[in-house]
Amino acid sequence: MKVYGYARVSTQEQAEEFDALNQQVARLKAAGATEVLIDIESGRNDERKQYNELLKLVQQNQVDEIIITRVDRLGRSVITIHKAIDVFVKHNVNLRILDAPVDPNSPFGWFSINQMSGLAEFESRLLSQRIRHGNNYFRQQLKYCVPPFGYAKDENQRLTPNNNIHPQSGKSYFELAKIIIDLTLSMRSLKDVCDYIYTEYEIVFSIAGLRDWVKNPALQGHTAYFFRKKKGVNREPIINFNTHEALITAATVEAIQRKLSENKKYRSSATSTRGDYPLAGLIKCAHCSGSMYRNFSRHKTKVEYIRCVNYNKPGKYHCENSKCTRLREIIAQTIATLCENAPHLIEHLETQSTTMQVVNTKDIDKFTNELSVLRGLRSSNPDIMEAIAKIEATINTLSTPTRIVDRDAFENAKRKIAIASQATFWESLDDSELRSALAEFVEKVEVDSSGIITPTFKLPLTLSSMRP
Ligand SMILES: [Zn+2]
Repeated sequence: MKVYGYARVSTQEQAEEFDALNQQVARLKAAGATEVLIDIESGRNDERKQYNELLKLVQQNQVDEIIITRVDRLGRSVITIHKAIDVFVKHNVNLRILDAPVDPNSPFGWFSINQMSGLAEFESRLLSQRIRHGNNYFRQQLKYCVPPFGYAKDENQRLTPNNNIHPQSGKSYFELAKIIIDLTLSMRSLKDVCDYIYTEYEIVFSIAGLRDWVKNPALQGHTAYFFRKKKGVNREPIINFNTHEALITAATVEAIQRKLSENKKYRSSATSTRGDYPLAGLIKCAHCSGSMYRNFSRHKTKVEYIRCVNYNKPGKYHCENSKCTRLREIIAQTIATLCENAPHLIEHLETQSTTMQVVNTKDIDKFTNELSVLRGLRSSNPDIMEAIAKIEATINTLSTPTRIVDRDAFENAKRKIAIASQATFWESLDDSELRSALAEFVEKVEVDSSGIITPTFKLPLTLSSMRP
């Protein structure tokens, strides 16, 4: 007999009482359940994974009995509970409710389950109403959940400047917030601000987080709710003006926003040249194998250098490789290595082209099948004998590997490598020619924190340029 237990706790219950779930499971097992399916989810949610799994098992007639502790474990709505019980009854599954033993098949049992499920839904409705009222009350009191950077909550849970001292800088958080606003106004981009406050104060802000923070009405001294637009939620924002000390004025916010939209313009014009340099996308960090990006030095000379994207990133992508390596140095090294290795590349190309064979196993299988059918006839009919001979011959030719190298493509590739092995060829190219020429030979170039440059080459002859 297959006896299943079903346990459910809401995330709220689980948070309040750590052992709630364990206790339920222990009771179900003690009552004889050989397997217990568990959901940690609200009973109002019908998308519960294990619950639906249980219904599926019932419909496949794989369950004889289900044990639950209370009827509200099945769900928090009358409809859900009744649907479940209907399925159980239909498939002759015995439902055992430990806290209130009833028989759903008897009129009295049906009545009690009705009452219990009604009560479960009533509780659930009451709870969500309480939450709604609670939230309204909370907002009327101008209470706040998570204060933005620079602010804290007073004893009434209202916003107030955070005058606690930030240990690394000796300044108060409110002062630091003012500094960040000034930086946002004066620095070139939000990214620069994020980088700066991380290195200077160890304060972590993401670019999006910083943008959001600046727009938060709390910084202008207002206590606002629902001011962030959420997808699919259409709620009017509630704003209580001038409830606490402001960090910035509305005019400053406007100035910052104007600056950000200018940055956006600047960014979009820059994207066209951002990845447009020799070896773009091919340079990798030897430490974290992350990409490396090009930057220009702030110096008049505007030297291009390459650095790991993950350098100093907070969190799990953090990379130690702080080395800035000059792009031109990397290109020169790569070309030098390529010139040096050209003879090996040609050698490699030769061996690859002579061992390249193609055998179409699919066709062979097909013919082998036909052959065995014909042979199975054991016929002496000359037509069939001839057919067998023909198929045998075809299989033979198919199984003999053929050289499939396109001689022209091969010679062409050899010529390309020969040309690429001459330093003078590379000197004659401009940046965009350099980029496409390098892309033909270079698979990747790794750069490590001591500036060691290791290129990996590929052959300029791909399978697509070969044909049988
Ligand atoms: Zn790295």
